[in-house]
Amino acid sequence: MAKQKSLLLVDDDASTLRVLSKVLAGYPDQRLALSGEQALALARARCPDLILIDMEMPGMSGTQLCSVLKNDSSLAHVPVLFVTSDDSEATRLEALQLGAADFVTKPIVAEQLQARVGAVLRTVAEVERAKAEATQAALHEPEVLRAGPSRLLVVGSDPVEVSGLHETLEGIGEVRTADARDLVMIMVLARTWRPDLVLVDTALQGREEPGFDLCRLFKAAPTLSHVPIVFVSRQADGFDETRALALGAADILARPFSGTVLKARVRNLLELKRRTDIELAMAASEGQRLQADRLAAVVEGASDAIITINAAGDIALMNAAAGRLLAMDPLLSTGRPAADLLTERLPGLDLTQPTSGQRVLLSRCDGTEVPAEVSISIVGNGTLRLTTLMCRDLTDRERLAAESSARAAAEAANKTKALMISYVAHEIGNPLNCILGFAQLMACDRVAPLNATQAQRVAMIEAGCTQLSTLMNDLSALGHFELGQLSVRRGPVNVLEVLDSALRTTAGLAEQMQVTLTQSREVPEGVLVLADGNRLRQCLVNLLSNGIKYNKRGGSVTIALKVQDQFLQVSITDTGIGMSPEQIAHLYEPFNRLGLQDSRLPGTGLGLVVTRQLIDAMGGQLTVTSSPGDGSCFTFTLLLAEDLLPH
Ligand code: ADP
Repeated sequence: MAKQKSLLLVDDDASTLRVLSKVLAGYPDQRLALSGEQALALARARCPDLILIDMEMPGMSGTQLCSVLKNDSSLAHVPVLFVTSDDSEATRLEALQLGAADFVTKPIVAEQLQARVGAVLRTVAEVERAKAEATQAALHEPEVLRAGPSRLLVVGSDPVEVSGLHETLEGIGEVRTADARDLVMIMVLARTWRPDLVLVDTALQGREEPGFDLCRLFKAAPTLSHVPIVFVSRQADGFDETRALALGAADILARPFSGTVLKARVRNLLELKRRTDIELAMAASEGQRLQADRLAAVVEGASDAIITINAAGDIALMNAAAGRLLAMDPLLSTGRPAADLLTERLPGLDLTQPTSGQRVLLSRCDGTEVPAEVSISIVGNGTLRLTTLMCRDLTDRERLAAESSARAAAEAANKTKALMISYVAHEIGNPLNCILGFAQLMACDRVAPLNATQAQRVAMIEAGCTQLSTLMNDLSALGHFELGQLSVRRGPVNVLEVLDSALRTTAGLAEQMQVTLTQSREVPEGVLVLADGNRLRQCLVNLLSNGIKYNKRGGSVTIALKVQDQFLQVSITDTGIGMSPEQIAHLYEPFNRLGLQDSRLPGTGLGLVVTRQLIDAMGGQLTVTSSPGDGSCFTFTLLLAEDLLPH
């Protein structure tokens, strides 16, 4: 049993609403609303099959309600029938432009209202059926040039005139007739039957010309705009020819005319329409071809593998990327059963089920295996079912992911190592300073002075501690550097004071190695540089120690300071063993002792790495010149703290 139609009746006047409801009692599923807002709420709560609206309502008017409904995607399809007391052409047009299906005029004539409501509901059903048919037809074959006899639609209100025209035209093609007053029905017929020509008989006396509305509606519909409309008029009626032509009428025939003339004109117009149809069809097929070409080019050029399988289970398309990924020839594979070609290649994948981003180990035709991500989509049913596989080679992505996680693991291990280095260096520092401090106290204790042997041994403890302390400082700085935490606090530093401290630290080593330390201070007393005092001392100790260690007995180390522009230049020159250019090329590599690792000279290969980093961090630059057998010269610069420079 067909579903009962549900109506929504809207009128601000309760008594009119009662009349409407009574007239439409044949539709028991009725809801009544006294305002536009109320109607909207009811319609949104449950979608009706038809809405009858009073055009003239206070507040939200009928036309406003209609446009809100037409803009609401869930209600736009519901037909609206206006009830109006204004029967002018302007009102009718406004109603049609707003998307109303029809309108009735007040006072309400029961039969007329029932007929209109019935017609609109029937029309909706017909439109739905036509739509379904058109969709089916489009699915099976796109619209091509239609064969068969021409279709002629005769529209008029006088049955005698209409059937006369029908008879005259019968020999030319298939003829259908329609009542000129039922625009909605005419449009449904036009959209589904697709006439090749419309003949409008304008013998309507004392009424507005509905043919004009028909013209407008045809011109506005993309599929009907080129259908010729011919008016058959009676000049005595005062038919407005200029207006008809302006609205796009193809021809106007004034009565009386002979059947032969009518047929000749109609034939001419049909021929014109046929040629237009051919041109349109050609343009459409060219457009379709271009679109298909473009799509094919996109698919072919895609970097992902794309394979489509038709309803019969055969490969309908395989792009170049798919050929490369599977090591198959796309041309030779097309048309062959997908099950034979792909099941083995894509183990564990059900080709009949949609899936998204599934990882498979694809086994290629050449025997190699490739990790791939596969998505399967299925569209259409029955013979139109199309399965599309998209595969992406994951080799690079997975390699990059593996590399990046290995890198992250190495970085984490490095960080742990650097943390341990800093921690050990820091923890050893305290007891070391304690040993050094007490050794120094013992050396200068006046109450219990040391004998010569004891003094010599304490001096050796001191030298050992100084050496260890230098190493610990370097290790700590290296650890902090690797952690990105090397802190250098720059400020004005009295460089001569720092130099004196560094010289005191290295004096014992110089004595032990029998190397003389000399100085050349071409700088004002109290000169200030922008540096970190402790770090600068560490650098000077490292460079002085190296000059002493890698020297000859009786050799010398000269430390020279001079001002150059806004910089202080410090150079430490020794008369030692020197280095070759090859050795210098590896000078700043951690733990590289440049061939001296087995010598009895103490060292770790860290001092210069740290020194250079510290000087960099203080805004300076360390350079070296050396000659094997003659000695080396390490030079670095630091910015003078000018404002604080004594004048
Ligand atoms: P260490 O002195 O602990 O080995 P450094 O980083 O200070 O570490 O020096 C690295 C290497 O560079 C030394 O082992 C040595 O071979 C060479 N070197 C450093 N300074 C000099 C110098 N003044 N003369 C000759 N060789 C040097």
